[in-house]
Amino acid sequence: MSAGLNVVLLGAPGAGKGTQAERIVSEFDVPHISTGDILRAAVAAGTELGRTAQRHMEAGELVPDEVVIGIVGDRLAEPDAAAGFLLDGFPRTIDQARALDDILAEAGRDLSHVIVLDVPEQELIERLSGRRMCRGCGKGYHLTFDPPVDEGVCDACGGELYQRADDNEETVRNRLVVYRRQTEPLVEYYTGRGLVSTISGGGRLPDEVWTDVRAALAADRPA
Ligand code: ADP
Ligand code: ZN
Repeated sequence: MSAGLNVVLLGAPGAGKGTQAERIVSEFDVPHISTGDILRAAVAAGTELGRTAQRHMEAGELVPDEVVIGIVGDRLAEPDAAAGFLLDGFPRTIDQARALDDILAEAGRDLSHVIVLDVPEQELIERLSGRRMCRGCGKGYHLTFDPPVDEGVCDACGGELYQRADDNEETVRNRLVVYRRQTEPLVEYYTGRGLVSTISGGGRLPDEVWTDVRAALAADRPA
């Protein structure tokens, strides 16, 4: 038996992983491990890892498996992940999923749940192209669906809002193609192991989606 809540959150870019991730980590008290956030921090810091990652991210391509697998292996070995974790944005390929299995098996652990957020493609494009982020605190907004009170300014911290370099329309289309080809096969990979709860995230408020996500995680095994 695996101790703790060891969760993978799967879904296309724009499916609402970040929003649900925030709620999961505060409700279930597990660390939020987002490979996208870790890579963006490396880009901002200008490290060698950041320079490698940046080229791939701006093209909407995946960063090479060996790079992200190394990052996640190190992160999962930190003490705060010992009692459970939420992985957001990893794994994204079958090879990454196999590597995760190996990392967990070596530690005598296993996944407990895989949550798949399912949103229609057209809605993903609308969401991503209107998405804005705060430079100060990282909070997400949407120009139409969730605008800040003052244009261009974060409600929470007064920071400046910006558009992620990979949220332009061309890169968004490529990220969706990459998701369909490389990441969606993971749904089947994990379904075979009885780990998956697929939750509809299209045309619903974050609170409505959260009700289903919470129920799925509260159950021992996916319904
Ligand atoms: P989204 O899910 O909205 O595309 P993320 O913040 O999770 O955004 O990821 C942004 C980018 O970071 C991806 O398009 C990819 O280039 C890179 N990335 C993040 N996680 C991984 C991963 N597990 N494997 C490869 N590349 C990754
Ligand atoms: Zn802010």
